[in-house]
Amino acid sequence: MSVNIEILSGLGAKGPAAIVVEAQGKRLLLDAGGALHSDDTITWANNLDVDAVLISHDHIDHIAGVAELAENVPLYCTPLVAKALPHNRPWHPLPERGTLEVEGIIVTTGQAGHSLGGVWLHLAVGGGVYYSGDACFESRLFPFDTPPKAVIALLDASYGSYDQPQAHCVQAISEYLYQPLAFPVPETGRALEMALWLAEEADQRQLTLSIDPVIRDNLAALLALPATLRRPGLDHSIRSLLARQNACPPTLMLMCDRSDTPEQWPDHHLLHTGYLTPDRRAELAADQISWQRWNVHLRASHLVALADQLGATQVVPLFTQLANNELNAWHGLLGERLCTAQRLSAHSRLVTLSSLGSFA
Ligand SMILES: [Zn+2]
Repeated sequence: MSVNIEILSGLGAKGPAAIVVEAQGKRLLLDAGGALHSDDTITWANNLDVDAVLISHDHIDHIAGVAELAENVPLYCTPLVAKALPHNRPWHPLPERGTLEVEGIIVTTGQAGHSLGGVWLHLAVGGGVYYSGDACFESRLFPFDTPPKAVIALLDASYGSYDQPQAHCVQAISEYLYQPLAFPVPETGRALEMALWLAEEADQRQLTLSIDPVIRDNLAALLALPATLRRPGLDHSIRSLLARQNACPPTLMLMCDRSDTPEQWPDHHLLHTGYLTPDRRAELAADQISWQRWNVHLRASHLVALADQLGATQVVPLFTQLANNELNAWHGLLGERLCTAQRLSAHSRLVTLSSLGSFA
């Protein structure tokens, strides 16, 4: 059994995800990423011919390109991710953790530790192909499931060779909490775990807090899922948070990420914790906003641990620059396993599936 992979987008830079896996005479598209910046357009979908598309999670750089695909291409995603699809777009359910057949190919999914409803994808072709989508081991809310073995690993390397533990990030963010702060965050991702953390901090410091209703709804949706789809021991904290009234005006605000500017929030300092658009990089350079990362992607040592666990012989770091210094760093981390080609393939007569477990 052989498999051919073409990375249409997402190689060599932080950018929209779109990967075609061709096996058994079928072509599956993994993710359909849209442009990260409003003035960019995507070209990967031009003249694309695929039999089905599988979506890992609902962030724009993984799902917003669905609008460019023909409506009759079968689309698979989890029910919570389907909420972000274009209105009336037909879709088939992917399990949050489990196995199904798509166009004759066995697809296994597991929790990716990154966002509400988000999964990684494993295809039982050519010795196994694993695609992490966006993934993280360090979420206090979203679990990460151990994937089956795979010779090819397409991994979220959004952070490059960065390797700071989440505890350092949280400590650094806590040092900003002496002032009125607004945190613009992706509402299905780190928003949920930051809400729990900010509630604890607000209580300890006797600060007032407001959490966007959309983020509250997403926490309620997480609570409504089977308990094994969230880290244990948090249900009481989530319920307490949902019962808590928003303060008005609050000292701390957790809000859905939009194109907000500092001028729109004159009473709060904006603290960003994730990817910065060029506009925001300019605001940061002008000291109008602050930035401190909250880890939601694999850091370098975790990416290597995942590649080891998969038993991968070809590892592609996705969503990151691969110019000179970065390439050297990845070579040091992955050795001969490093693969930076846009097209790759594997051949195998045997695909081994191991059972799912808790890895991180
Ligand atoms: Zn994401």
